[in-house]
Amino acid sequence: MTNNSLREAVRKMNAEVCDQCGKCSSACPVTARVEGFNPRQIIAKIALGKEGDLMKSGVIWTCTSCLKCKERCPEKLSPYDLILDLRRIAIDLQLPHPEGYDESVKAVVETGAIQQPQLIRTRNKERKDRKSMGLPPAEKPKDLAAYTQTLQEILKEEKA
Ligand code: SF4
Ligand code: SF4
Repeated sequence: MTNNSLREAVRKMNAEVCDQCGKCSSACPVTARVEGFNPRQIIAKIALGKEGDLMKSGVIWTCTSCLKCKERCPEKLSPYDLILDLRRIAIDLQLPHPEGYDESVKAVVETGAIQQPQLIRTRNKERKDRKSMGLPPAEKPKDLAAYTQTLQEILKEEKA
């Protein structure tokens, strides 16, 4: 996605109707903990064409995708969706982003899972795996080669 398509996404989402009421920010769990992250201000900056500052600051990567901002907005805006657009543009522009995202994408492409099954901790502080809990092994794509190839074709189409 280019900066022009971000502007188009903003236009479609009617961001100019944001009245800066701040309900998104007061509901946002990240705003309370991460200095510089504020969905109300993010909407305002995008509307002013200052999204480049947001992407360079890296603050967009701290959103937890809880969707409270989208739920609470009286104007039916979604700071969350705009943050996702900013992330897509940041990746397209090869701006710095958390390494974990690359690792997650790599894991999905190569194994079909964002992460491998892990041990869980019980209330008695025991560590248990799926087998010890009577669960079958986590499923993987039946034809991993075909799955990976299809996924890579989809990713190529997305970039085209
Ligand atoms: S809740 Fe909606 S209208 Fe209010 S500041 Fe956030 S985005 Fe703007
Ligand atoms: S989706 Fe992101 S921006 Fe919206 S409330 Fe949750 S953490 Fe905050």
